Amino acid sequence: MSATPPATSRTVADLAARSAELDAADPLAAHRGEFLLEAAPGVSAYLDGNSLGRPLKATPEAVQRFVEQEWGGRLIQGWTEDGQVGAGGWMDWPTDLGDLLGRVALGAAGGQTVVADSTTVLFYKLVRAALAARVEGRDEIVADTDNFPTDRFVLEGVAAETGTRIRWIETDPAAGIDAEQVRAAVGPRTALATFSHVAYRSGHLADAAAITAAVHDAGALVLWDLSHSVGSVPLALDEWGVDLAVGCTYKYLNGGPGAPAFAYLAHRHQGRHGGALRQPVQGWMGHADPFAMGRGYQPDPGVRQLISGTPPIVSMVPVRVGLEQLRRAGIDAVRRKSVLLTGHALELADALLVPHGVQVATPREAAARGGHLTLREGTSGLDARRATAALWQRGVVPDFRAPDGIRLGLAPLSTSFTEVLTGVLALQRVVEEAR
Ligand SMILES: *Cc1c(COP(=O)(O)O)cnc(C)c1O
Repeated sequence: MSATPPATSRTVADLAARSAELDAADPLAAHRGEFLLEAAPGVSAYLDGNSLGRPLKATPEAVQRFVEQEWGGRLIQGWTEDGQVGAGGWMDWPTDLGDLLGRVALGAAGGQTVVADSTTVLFYKLVRAALAARVEGRDEIVADTDNFPTDRFVLEGVAAETGTRIRWIETDPAAGIDAEQVRAAVGPRTALATFSHVAYRSGHLADAAAITAAVHDAGALVLWDLSHSVGSVPLALDEWGVDLAVGCTYKYLNGGPGAPAFAYLAHRHQGRHGGALRQPVQGWMGHADPFAMGRGYQPDPGVRQLISGTPPIVSMVPVRVGLEQLRRAGIDAVRRKSVLLTGHALELADALLVPHGVQVATPREAAARGGHLTLREGTSGLDARRATAALWQRGVVPDFRAPDGIRLGLAPLSTSFTEVLTGVLALQRVVEEAR
């Protein structure tokens, strides 16, 4: 008799062949080799690029070159090539890098994006700017209960500071915010509505165009947190008519831990274009003429006014390396691979984990999900927190999200299809051990 392998191992062999096939057909496969994979030899599956992207090989060299040649070589002269803002010195990096980001990832024309601060700080500034411009009677902020904690916490603080009220939309943590819920919540009292484009927990991708329209129909401003979509999902901020947006550069953009965030302020809200939005942290770097050092604050008429103090220039070097890679790859190709990666993870989860009682918490429809897949304990007997720790010890790195979620973050430029299989197989073993 010929030896027929047991059904389970045949299934695994099939899944391995399928993963290899997808890798072979992946037009972005070569970009994986641009990452410093060898720096983490013990990691066989990195499934957390949505929390902290991997470094690129070009990054250490770019940082070293900056330190030696620009910082070391130019010293204070590096800020302003010829003593002025707008001449290509470091003073211009927040807006130059913002423009590059706008072009390759945000669907934003130049002059509307800055790179500075952290997402939390920029979120605060934009929320305050939006509320400062509100008209009599508009005293509510609309937000959803499953937004990222920092957003909710900042809103609570700002509401207390400004005497406004937050109208919370209860969202299903296994799904996310939709336009109908928003339409039902916004009204003549809404000043600002703010949501995450991709829900950090479930991976649900919101319909930003429809939600933006719903908020505008109510006469309010919208602020999007793009932390989990930038660099993985194509954005069209100008086309959608978005007012304000913020996001991280250390997730899918691979800018490194604590890399500066970005903020988008639509042209129509800038002083130069007749707009009236003003952020509250009035520092010298957001002044119309930072080097005049005169009396009284005059905000820059453009997007520069969002800057407060000296921007983190050294930390922008890795961000630029990441954005250059994204520009070469193209965000549409990135999204195509992202959809295949999450689809593959879903297929693997259905084959290897769902039969053990694990649940998939991410929408199954490709158009309704971002770049990560979230699994829940379900009836598997798994303790998601302990399972994540066990996986980390074995070189498989997803992350745990309370109360019972394991997120598989699939960064299209650095994650391979075989790596996803390695991760899901390791999780299957942990599930089996837990029984
Ligand atoms: C990661 C993340 C942040 C992080 O904010 P920081 O100020 O960089 O700590 C904010 N919002 C969302 C939606 C995130 O996913």
